[in-house]
Amino acid sequence: MALPDSKIQPRQTPVTAFPGIGATRLEQLARLDIFTAEDLLLHRPRRYEDRRHFRAIAELTRDEAATARGTIVAQGLKRFRGGKKSVFEFVLDDGTARLHCRWWNLPFMEKYFAVGDEVFVFGKLVETKPRTMDHPETEVIEGGGESFIHINRIAPIYPLTEGLPQRWLRGLIWRTLEQFEPQIVEPNPAPDLKIFPSRANAVRMLHFPEELTDVDMARRRLALDEFIALQREVRLRRKKFEAKAQGLPCGGDNRLMKPFLARLAFKLTLAQTTVLREIRADMGGAHPMRRLLQGDVGSGKTVVAACTALMALESGFTVALMAPTEILAEQHFHNFQKWFEPLGVRVELQTGSRKTAEGRESGIGNQTRLRSTFGTRPSTLFVGTHALFTSGFDLPKLGLVIIDEQHKFGVAQREQLVRKGNYPHLLVMTATPIPRTLGLTLYGDLDVSVIDELPAGRGLVKTVVRGIDKHPQVWEFVREKLAAGRQAYVVYPRVEEQDTAGDLKAVTREFENVQRSLAPFRAGLLHGRLNSRQKEEVMTAFRANRIQALVATALIEVGLDVPNATILLVENAEQFGLAQLHQLRGRIGRGAHAGFCLLISNAKTEEARARLRVLEETRDGFRIAEMDLKLRGPGELLGQRQSGLPRFRFGNLADDLDLIRQARELVAQTPVNLVEKI
Ligand code: ADP
Ligand code: MG
Repeated sequence: MALPDSKIQPRQTPVTAFPGIGATRLEQLARLDIFTAEDLLLHRPRRYEDRRHFRAIAELTRDEAATARGTIVAQGLKRFRGGKKSVFEFVLDDGTARLHCRWWNLPFMEKYFAVGDEVFVFGKLVETKPRTMDHPETEVIEGGGESFIHINRIAPIYPLTEGLPQRWLRGLIWRTLEQFEPQIVEPNPAPDLKIFPSRANAVRMLHFPEELTDVDMARRRLALDEFIALQREVRLRRKKFEAKAQGLPCGGDNRLMKPFLARLAFKLTLAQTTVLREIRADMGGAHPMRRLLQGDVGSGKTVVAACTALMALESGFTVALMAPTEILAEQHFHNFQKWFEPLGVRVELQTGSRKTAEGRESGIGNQTRLRSTFGTRPSTLFVGTHALFTSGFDLPKLGLVIIDEQHKFGVAQREQLVRKGNYPHLLVMTATPIPRTLGLTLYGDLDVSVIDELPAGRGLVKTVVRGIDKHPQVWEFVREKLAAGRQAYVVYPRVEEQDTAGDLKAVTREFENVQRSLAPFRAGLLHGRLNSRQKEEVMTAFRANRIQALVATALIEVGLDVPNATILLVENAEQFGLAQLHQLRGRIGRGAHAGFCLLISNAKTEEARARLRVLEETRDGFRIAEMDLKLRGPGELLGQRQSGLPRFRFGNLADDLDLIRQARELVAQTPVNLVEKI
């Protein structure tokens, strides 16, 4: 088969331009996301088979999958149950022993083999007398000019799709590589070729390694290229932004900050002060601030946000503070009102449901109301959910946007928000400690500040994992603590029972159980299907200790601050991510009293229990997040809504910190005008 003009880059060569690939094959390749020559070159083998050495059939075992090679000496199809069921079987002989290979209910397999064929089989035995494999992977060895691609070497085994033969795809990739290898260019900037193989070499080693160790070298090189591409993009985006956006002068003059700090019940920690110094430099700088503030739960990010807001307010600008949930927006609203109104700063609340509710009652939208109040007093803090930005009104003279608990918003959303207004400064706060790999990719265009110290005098939190058989003792323990004047959160995974997972406890149904278990103490119920007035009623009652236990979904995960609540009981804890549990645990141990985090696990496997035990051992949010990333992947860690993470074919966010760093340094060292060229 001839291939198209090799002077054209693989990226620009669609597989439709390949002669001899018919509609069926094109459709099969499309199912594998293969549309261009480049896609073929980067189609990553699923595993490799060392076809220089085979396992003798006599030495195959039940425990370990291995490749054998032999000749078919007999084959046949048996039908039973009136033809509804079938088994196709062939017998392979390699001179050491015979091997029976069976396929159940796949009668068409008969077409693919014939007595006398030489075949490879890969699998493990299901029986030893006679030696038998069920549904092994197979490949018929054919003679002819191209057989060297498939045998007597380490052969790549690719992910396939129905109807696409392994051998055909391997041949196609081999020929594509032969044709395009000279066109595989180094990225810009390129890594040191004394340390890494060239990109062209890496692609070859990926498909046709000489030794299995080549495969890892190839993967690392191709992963590095992915990270370089990403960092380039991040860098260019940032540079473009800086070229067109001027920083609003928001450095402030301490006129509000001084009285605010004087009235605060505590002194800022050294970490908080350090971060504020970094922020102040940004706020008075030439370019708009783009800063990510990381700090473990309870490290005191809110007060840093408040000080940052004051800088902008002192400078005559308004500020928008956005929270991911209504409950959290309300909490911030109350706090900031308490803090700011004595300073003469107006605080406004705007959430989705608040706005509609008030609009209906008063006959005018919040929009009008907010507009009309503005103008009388220029220094206003708007607190809200994303409704702040989607409701379509302009925030007047917006100098600063603060986003709390950023990981709940997508990257795309972040970009949208920032485009509002005249390039306001942006402070993004996150309590999910972001593993460094993610920080450098997802948030690569932000500067990072870290609060690495918790305020002194925090109650300790003891964490224990218990099986469901310990329920009676657990409730007894909680009642004791309530009797001593403390309060508790009781958390369930979902609101309503899911059809798919029948054993999920439904918080609504369990509520009555909890009430009974905790009597005479009072419990309240909080979940996402309540309207915002109901939610606020429950929260107010809980804050005032009119109810002692709050039964809730993971809704409370984010940011709630009720210092007297010192018990956290999580049911079906195995259903949560570690980082999420760590967040939940951040709700307690906020006051002077010791906190207790009780994780009730229904996990059947030792593995699942071991995972939870990480929380018994550490309170280091970064370590926990890194574990979560390894165990569950970035999607889980960041939440479903997280978008904007590119799909890596070779890069692995859990393991490739060194490569991400190298890519970042490489891109940073190259002058921007050179980076721009490729
Ligand atoms: P998070 O970083 O999780 O958002 P918060 O800002 O809610 O944490 O702070 C947690 C608690 O710690 C709050 O009750 C807050 O008032 C208190 N706090 C914040 N900074 C300090 C400090 N420097 N000293 C003592 N307590 C503090
Ligand atoms: Mg917070």
